[in-house]
Amino acid sequence: MSLDIDNKLNVKVGFEIHQQLNTSTKLFCDCNGKGSEDVYDFDFIRVLRPTKSELGDFDRAALFEHAKMSSIKYYSKIGYSCLVEADEEPPHNVNKDALETVLLFSLALNSNIADEIHVMRKLVIDGSNVSGFQRTMLVSTGGYLEVDNFKKVGVQGICLEEDAAKLISTTNPKFKEYGLDRLGIPLVEIALEPISGTPAEIVNVALTLGRLLRSSKRVTRGIGSIRQDVNISVNGGQVVEVKGVQQLSQLVKVLDYETKRQCGMIKIAEEFKNRNIEDSLIGDKIADVTSLFINSSSNVIKKILKSSDPIIKCIRLRKLRGLVGYEPVEDIRIGKELGEFVRFFGLGGLFHSDELPNYGITADDIGNIEKSLDIIPGSDDAFIIIGGNRNKIDNLIGPLTKRIIQFKDGVIAETRSVTLDGTTIFSRPRPGSSRMYPETDIMPIPIDIELISRLKDKIPLPWNELIKRIMKKYGLNMKLSEQIFDSDYYDLFEAIIQSTSPSSTLSPTFVASKLTEDIVSLSRNNLDKTLLTDEMILEIFNRLEKGLIAKESVILIFEKLMKGESVSVQEAINSLNLTKMDDIELYSLLDKLFNDNINIIREKGANSMGILMGKSMTVLRGKVDGSKINNYLKGKLETFLKDGSSM
Ligand SMILES: [Zn+2]
Repeated sequence: MSLDIDNKLNVKVGFEIHQQLNTSTKLFCDCNGKGSEDVYDFDFIRVLRPTKSELGDFDRAALFEHAKMSSIKYYSKIGYSCLVEADEEPPHNVNKDALETVLLFSLALNSNIADEIHVMRKLVIDGSNVSGFQRTMLVSTGGYLEVDNFKKVGVQGICLEEDAAKLISTTNPKFKEYGLDRLGIPLVEIALEPISGTPAEIVNVALTLGRLLRSSKRVTRGIGSIRQDVNISVNGGQVVEVKGVQQLSQLVKVLDYETKRQCGMIKIAEEFKNRNIEDSLIGDKIADVTSLFINSSSNVIKKILKSSDPIIKCIRLRKLRGLVGYEPVEDIRIGKELGEFVRFFGLGGLFHSDELPNYGITADDIGNIEKSLDIIPGSDDAFIIIGGNRNKIDNLIGPLTKRIIQFKDGVIAETRSVTLDGTTIFSRPRPGSSRMYPETDIMPIPIDIELISRLKDKIPLPWNELIKRIMKKYGLNMKLSEQIFDSDYYDLFEAIIQSTSPSSTLSPTFVASKLTEDIVSLSRNNLDKTLLTDEMILEIFNRLEKGLIAKESVILIFEKLMKGESVSVQEAINSLNLTKMDDIELYSLLDKLFNDNINIIREKGANSMGILMGKSMTVLRGKVDGSKINNYLKGKLETFLKDGSSM
């Protein structure tokens, strides 16, 4: 599925990385800065009335109809949000730790720090900020990120800003629901200059920036704490912004998919040109065909007709036959793009003539539609069918027609969101550069030279320097040092090592490999690592150190917990029957196994060791260290072979 980006393609990628800062309190108040676990104490409802349009010439009525966003329910938890988040009280002074952290990043990235920092308000229309705007401060501009010690990637700007409220649900028809615990958590936003390169090179830039932030130990780690907006353009075309990429593995897929999609769009535009399709040919005739479908056996149509005040309309697209379903690049079609667009308006989807008859829509239906649209059967005219609530359909037709006309321009500048499998879907037109207004409740913050020179000792270490220190401190090899540092478990790793006694048999290498390789391999099998909490992991290593469980059982317990089959370490140990076996019991069991296999041993000699190990591990896996079994059996086998004695 991966599309090789060949030399002819010039793919430009710009990153805007947002990472939560690990401060104890929020940016403009003293509430807890860590976010809560979706348990709330009370809620309130607000009605947002956006006054300024940052939606360009997009049909606003339709957008609001889709989003049903005028009413919003906010959930609050005491200690995690206060009157500041509720916009009932002015913001307090800017969190000094947060500002210091962003200044450190500016220094590390050689960025020019402003003499005075101004808090600005940026309009937000989706309800994710109670006030209707997000507060942001431009801390520095320019500078560069050094990648692999030689390549420099330019920095556009570095901002300190507040995180938005967390979207909890959009399923309630009356209002959207947001949790306020995340609103106001400080974020650093770093925008890099667009770069060209292979996906691997581009991912490496993102990785390098992420590592720099993490090496400060001043950022929050784990899922949801980092979000990247990625601007992608192919061959100097329009820029598409993909919002909310959370992981590097997802970034690779997004780059692949978006490059492929944009290539498809360019090819579709060429076909528009070849066919000489003028704007006036698109949607020049629209017909209400509801009555034609009253007795339709199509399940989709039946469902549409059950909605409130339903209507089914079809739109004529002259000269487009064969082009709506045209797939110039695998899985990229006008039909698919339009389906996403229609769903954005809160409708189920659409049918187009290139895919019919199908889905219960018959050849007779097609004949009737063509008649009502004055399409000559067999001509090169196409049509699409849309259905649903009358208001929604009326709101959709203008933007949909415009959207189809836009295919002649190739890639359309828009904001897209990322799906779980790394594809992207339409999320909204790209807003113009967002309007900013000064925050009148907070005075500008002067940045003095003394502060900057004090901070110079605290600049985060370059990546390779940091890895060297980890290797030295814990005796890990380079690969494991990098893996544990890049994982979500570095802090936990340090905590585990600190909690062990100096004479412990738990080596840092063992702990690091369990926290990286084992958890990664279990996650690859689609097990859920979020079910395995830091507390559980600590408990497992604690039991291991006390000799209550064997080293081999660690991965078995991880697996049980990550499968959700056990909800506590004790429960996992009980259900796996992992209580450690004492030596007397172990040796008598191994003696018996040895004697039971004596014929094989006589026949194979020293080569029977593998068979003996295999057989004993099926019985003893997780209960006894494999090395202990190995030592005992090896000694026994050597003695036997030397003496030739039967036991
Ligand atoms: Zn607060």
